[in-house]
Amino acid sequence: MSFDHLFKFLVIGDSSVGKSCILLQFTNHRFQPIHDSTLGVEFGTRMIEISESRIKLQIWDTAGQETFKTITRSYYRGAVGCLLVYDITLRESFYHVQNWLQDVLEYSGPQTQIILVGNKTDLQGQRAVSTEEGKKFAEEHKINFIETSAKTANNIDEAFLEISNIIFNKIKNGEI
Ligand code: GDP
Ligand code: MG
Repeated sequence: MSFDHLFKFLVIGDSSVGKSCILLQFTNHRFQPIHDSTLGVEFGTRMIEISESRIKLQIWDTAGQETFKTITRSYYRGAVGCLLVYDITLRESFYHVQNWLQDVLEYSGPQTQIILVGNKTDLQGQRAVSTEEGKKFAEEHKINFIETSAKTANNIDEAFLEISNIIFNKIKNGEI
């Protein structure tokens, strides 16, 4: 299928925060409880349309590599967008956001549009990171912020579309 733009997106973050489920929900509109947290899809694609331009999103998953700290530079290279995911029920995954951010800035470059994603909002009873904390971190680092549930699909499309729109406008304005 023809397209006007190809955007490479990354989904990064600690193991088990829901990266593969977010990708599956966005590309296949389904939730699959994946029991082995090291399993993952390699990448997914979805066509979107902004201002009559057809954009192909090519979204790369870490496919379990995050467990072994073997994510290569080629994984990051050329990414225009990045979802940096933590699990709102797992404080540790939020602490590690800082490290993931450093890596993506270093390897993908400062022009990459990053959105911080607090996933698993359907598990409100187990929440360990407040919305305000996530928002504050994002503001301090000048990145976008959203909370999602890959299980209910809440805000999944919005997370991808928000940064897609920003990237599209930057291209239109000749900024990238
Ligand atoms: P990854 O290691 O970051 O790719 O995480 P996965 O996508 O494999 O998900 C890890 C576990 O969290 C799986 O058991 C999923 O079913 C579960 N999970 C992922 N997203 C959500 C969510 O939004 N809500 C709930 N309740 N569970 C989720
Ligand atoms: Mg995975």
